[in-house]
Amino acid sequence: MPPIKVAVLPGDGIGPEIMEASLPVIAKAAAGAKLALDFQHGLVGGAAYDATGHPLPPATLKLCDSAAAIYFGSVGGPKYDKIPDPNLRPERGALLPLRKRYTLYANVRPAIVYKGLEKRSAIKESIVTGMDLLVIRELVGGAYFGKKALTKSHAYDVIDYDAKQIDRVLDFAFKAALGRQKRLTLVHKANVLLTSVLWKQRWDVIRKKYPKVAVDDCYVDAFTMYLISRPASFDVMVTENMMGDILTDEAAQVTGSIGLIPSASLGAKKTKWGTFGLYEPSHGSAPDIAGKGIANPLATILSGAMMLRYSFGAEKAAVKVEAAVRKVLAQGLRTRDLAGPKDKALSTHAMGQAVLKAL
Ligand code: NAD
Repeated sequence: MPPIKVAVLPGDGIGPEIMEASLPVIAKAAAGAKLALDFQHGLVGGAAYDATGHPLPPATLKLCDSAAAIYFGSVGGPKYDKIPDPNLRPERGALLPLRKRYTLYANVRPAIVYKGLEKRSAIKESIVTGMDLLVIRELVGGAYFGKKALTKSHAYDVIDYDAKQIDRVLDFAFKAALGRQKRLTLVHKANVLLTSVLWKQRWDVIRKKYPKVAVDDCYVDAFTMYLISRPASFDVMVTENMMGDILTDEAAQVTGSIGLIPSASLGAKKTKWGTFGLYEPSHGSAPDIAGKGIANPLATILSGAMMLRYSFGAEKAAVKVEAAVRKVLAQGLRTRDLAGPKDKALSTHAMGQAVLKAL
């Protein structure tokens, strides 16, 4: 088999540091599955803007088009918030266009409370223990992509969904549930929003294809409470774009650390090896700690595990990386964000090496 080309886009802030710590882990796990990965680096975000005047230059797009997956660090920073044209700011100018270009309609984010980290959550240990939730968020529809307008006295963002957009992400969620505890929750606001009524109607059609999956559905306002009062009771949750944006951050916070939450954004494009996707940690570029070598690389390493799973069909290799992360955490190894005030903290590089060793 020829090597699999991966577009590696480290980006800004802590992006290059967390990526540098993660690549050897993913390369080693892939090699164990007899896959050779060809990591090809590209510029994205503020780094690309500084070098070329655009956060997503043509050379990066060409690299992504020819790759089997995109491994993304993070973009943005205070310097780039001042770029006059909002379309040239890192997130709006690079991340949203990448999602749209490859129709990455399913955003997948596991929110897990790891053994030994139960006390990190602001929620009582007895409530968060055992939380292992997979959140699936529709990523290319709804208010973020609908018709918009803003004048001095009036504004709107249209939430727009069609049945096809809903069906494909529901299908994705049901398949994900089949591979886990076979329980799926739809989160919506069908008592008020007509788009949610359509989501509910399509849900009632699609669920008939998956009789083995136990289903329930829940209003979004109630779900925000359940996520805090009984987070360990859910298996897989699926929802529309904006509700998902908010709930994924809430779920991350309940686990206690943003530095541990990976993500995959997947679409319809298939390659020889699996589903094309963009893999990135859920956190941002953390400009406050950039360059200090103290960032937690685990979310990026776990995003790489998701890449092995979804884009390269290497489930066993993905599980091995996830097990290695669990092992280092169980051993008490911590980066600064996870360490107690008296604990010795590992550097970003040292944490990457510890996971590599555990692997
Ligand atoms: P952030 O996630 O970058 O940081 C929030 C807090 O969490 C900070 O205190 C930071 O130090 C800490 N943190 C984040 N990741 C960490 C890690 N791996 N290890 C240890 N600590 C970590 O969010 P923010 O400060 O709101 O945003 C900073 C920049 O990142 C902004 O420019 C924002 O637009 C951008 N951003 C980018 C993405 C992306 O690239 N997908 C996502 C969110 C925010």
